[in-house]
Amino acid sequence: MSTSHPRPFNLILLGPPGSGKGTQAQMLAERFSLYHLSSGDLVRKIINSEVSGDPFAEAVKARYNQGIPQPDNIIVELVEKEINRLYRKTGFVFDAFPLSLPQAIGLERMIKVYEIREPFAISIRVSLQEALSRLTKRKYCQFDQHVYHPQDISYKKNICELCGQQLITRTDDTPEVVKKRYEAYESRIKELSGFYSETGRLLEIDGEQSIQGVFRSVINALVPHL
Ligand SMILES: [Zn+2]
Repeated sequence: MSTSHPRPFNLILLGPPGSGKGTQAQMLAERFSLYHLSSGDLVRKIINSEVSGDPFAEAVKARYNQGIPQPDNIIVELVEKEINRLYRKTGFVFDAFPLSLPQAIGLERMIKVYEIREPFAISIRVSLQEALSRLTKRKYCQFDQHVYHPQDISYKKNICELCGQQLITRTDDTPEVVKKRYEAYESRIKELSGFYSETGRLLEIDGEQSIQGVFRSVINALVPHL
């Protein structure tokens, strides 16, 4: 890390379902001692918590239970709470945030308010074909959400190595649903890519490599900017 920048740097991970961006986000957070801020985790934390009496949390839960996506302003609010709590201590790896132009604009505002460094957006590219082949082949444990891939021994045994339960295929990992999620992502990413490439902050990475290969490509793309 360059010493000419006293403020920690920040990264945004973009990628369709099956791109492995969550894994890369985790690896990058570890490598650079950044905080892995996943909007999905923030929502799940609320879903799994006891929230009676808190109207904000109740509303998040109600939408989740009805399958309604959380509105942009709610996601921005959740993220801002975390930034407000941590920005003096660490930089961030944003995972599944921003997912829309209004969310990206919300983040730009926070960058100014909290005086954090402008993040680089790392866009991990995989084709629909590759996403399909990766996602429709994974299994998971419905008790601890652990995910298994065809090369794992537990996958072949069809038994979770953590709790011994039978593994299942996720209902949103069927080819039809994966295709829909991928296409929804593609239409959003066009706007977001445009937004970040205009300011020279978009780094496009070939995601059709091994996990370590993608990680190396990300590091190589980042190094000149650190
Ligand atoms: Zn399990």
